[in-house]
Amino acid sequence: MSSKLKIYMYYLIYKHKKFKNRKKLINYQNRKIIKQLKFIRKHSKFYKNYKTNNLKDYPIIDKKIMMKYFNELNTIEIDKDEALEFAIKSEKDRKFKGKLNKTTVGLSSGTSDTRGVFLVSDNEKNKWAGYILARYLGNDLYKGCKIAFFMRADSNLYESLNSKHIKFVFFDIFKPMEENIKKLEKFKPNILVGQPSVLIELVKKKANICPNKIISIAEVLEKSDEKIIKKFFKKDIIYQVYQCTEGCLATTCEYGTLHLNEDIVYIEKEYLDKNRFVPIITDFTRKSQPIIRYRLNDILVESTKKCKCNSCFTALERIEGREDDIFIFLNKNGENIKVFPDFIRRCILFAGDIENYRCVQQTKENITIYIDCNKATKEKIYNEFKKLSEQLKFLLPKITFKDYYYDNNKKLKRVESFVKEL
Ligand SMILES: [Zn+2]
Repeated sequence: MSSKLKIYMYYLIYKHKKFKNRKKLINYQNRKIIKQLKFIRKHSKFYKNYKTNNLKDYPIIDKKIMMKYFNELNTIEIDKDEALEFAIKSEKDRKFKGKLNKTTVGLSSGTSDTRGVFLVSDNEKNKWAGYILARYLGNDLYKGCKIAFFMRADSNLYESLNSKHIKFVFFDIFKPMEENIKKLEKFKPNILVGQPSVLIELVKKKANICPNKIISIAEVLEKSDEKIIKKFFKKDIIYQVYQCTEGCLATTCEYGTLHLNEDIVYIEKEYLDKNRFVPIITDFTRKSQPIIRYRLNDILVESTKKCKCNSCFTALERIEGREDDIFIFLNKNGENIKVFPDFIRRCILFAGDIENYRCVQQTKENITIYIDCNKATKEKIYNEFKKLSEQLKFLLPKITFKDYYYDNNKKLKRVESFVKEL
């Protein structure tokens, strides 16, 4: 079967798969988990000595463990060093269409210290493409539409879907924006897909397009950025795909709520407080590099309200950021006080109408804010931090202001900490 047909088949499967209630979903997940566990016991050396169908008996792993046992974990006998070398070469040459043993190998673009390499088979790719199309295109697939894709790596996957009704055009984010905008204005997309920093760039450059649907990918969509994008493109909803190399974890429904994709992943929640949790994921769709009880370092915030769409999939209030980006300050007894990224964000946004900023923690006593604003706003930001330090009882760090700056080659992170808890 051609890749195009397979994607279409998965599109139909996921489009029509509906769950009446949570109980039905859980039964479905349990069946999928057992099937997946059977598969990995048979094909992954890492799991061969496990005997049970009870997921909780399997170890929780993370990126470090995944990389350490890469060779034992993957089911297609790919060697880590070979895979790394291959992925680095593709990245350097900016040629992404090559394959190792019929498998796509990529470097994960995460920011943590451990360099990650991931494997995706053609069938897994087709499944994801079908899933995303089912979630976001619905019946538009038949009506016809033009989709503009801003990505860092060219992928022939979606372009292979081009037909009479549907047209995908790839825009390379490494090309000058002016050039991309010219091409974009000529193309007039119905659907615009890109990471938030690219969407913001299109707003700043006043791109003359009016897509029906905007889909944000790859980076965390900050509420402040979302507001700016919505306003410029006159949209009520910015759709999101919360996806990492570990899987496609959440998508936005027609009411603008982000829901976990619990029909393809099972998610255990490690709670940090009442609503915040770190997801531990088990993916039913991954066979080449199994994802079983994989702990991400993201912080998600569960919604307390039921979504109008009536979906039985967990609704999220937002994706707060990386667990690594929790700021750590000291209290007067020299103990660590953890501050969630959202509190840091609010200190800056409460100070006024701020478009661009980055707040970086270098040490427990020092933070730097990259921002272009006047003295009065800086004072306001300082006061917000002072208030927060009093509320949470930590010693106010030294705050240095610098001109706004961000490296285009990296993912945009507005709140970032280099302080690690040891
Ligand atoms: Zn919903």
